[in-house]
Amino acid sequence: MEQVINYIRSSISELMFPKVCAICGFSLSKRQNFICNDCSQNRFERAVSGRADKINLPESVAGRFALWQFDKGGYLQDLLHKLKYHRLTGVGEDLGVILGNTIKNEQILNSFNANETRILPVPLHRKKRKLRGFNQAFFIAKGFSSKMEYDILKKGEVERVKNTKTQTGFTLNKRRENIANAFRVAQEKEISGKNIIIIDDVFTTGATAFELVTELERAKAGKIFIVTVAQA
Ligand SMILES: [Zn+2]
Repeated sequence: MEQVINYIRSSISELMFPKVCAICGFSLSKRQNFICNDCSQNRFERAVSGRADKINLPESVAGRFALWQFDKGGYLQDLLHKLKYHRLTGVGEDLGVILGNTIKNEQILNSFNANETRILPVPLHRKKRKLRGFNQAFFIAKGFSSKMEYDILKKGEVERVKNTKTQTGFTLNKRRENIANAFRVAQEKEISGKNIIIIDDVFTTGATAFELVTELERAKAGKIFIVTVAQA
């Protein structure tokens, strides 16, 4: 009986509020939350592969992957804005699933043993998280983790102890100065010897991710891989 009621309830809600793609407005299948297949495959420009080679990656960083090229004023910016400011956390999960599906066969990631690997969404300072209500990177990590066998590090195991100003418009040096000593590993034993997959929405100059890498290195992390939805 309960199943029947649930079925009727979800049918009614689908009739009244049909799920549509947040980008193109076409209706979605049950398994998709916000982004349709067509948009996820054709709407965005793939981030230029090999771009990572142009930036010197810290030694402990085994690799880096960005899914799409950031499009100022375009669909992707709008989507990431919806995730961040309109509380559409399901957008983050959809993006994480797309990311996971895209790179699950990546050679470096496949060499990471599940027991020794953790996913780390770039932490927000608690004041910022309170203001926004959530950490958008966590929801991307949640979707990503559903496609990979790695666990997400528990909240608070790596903290953002410095409430930084927004980095937009800063030069690289200014960004580095702004973000220096922003992260702290709470318990070294949770990080020591573990491979870490850092997840964030956008990779711009790398100042934030690399500062996090510095703190993870200090805590004796193993190999580090950086994954973002967008490449600015
Ligand atoms: Zn669509």
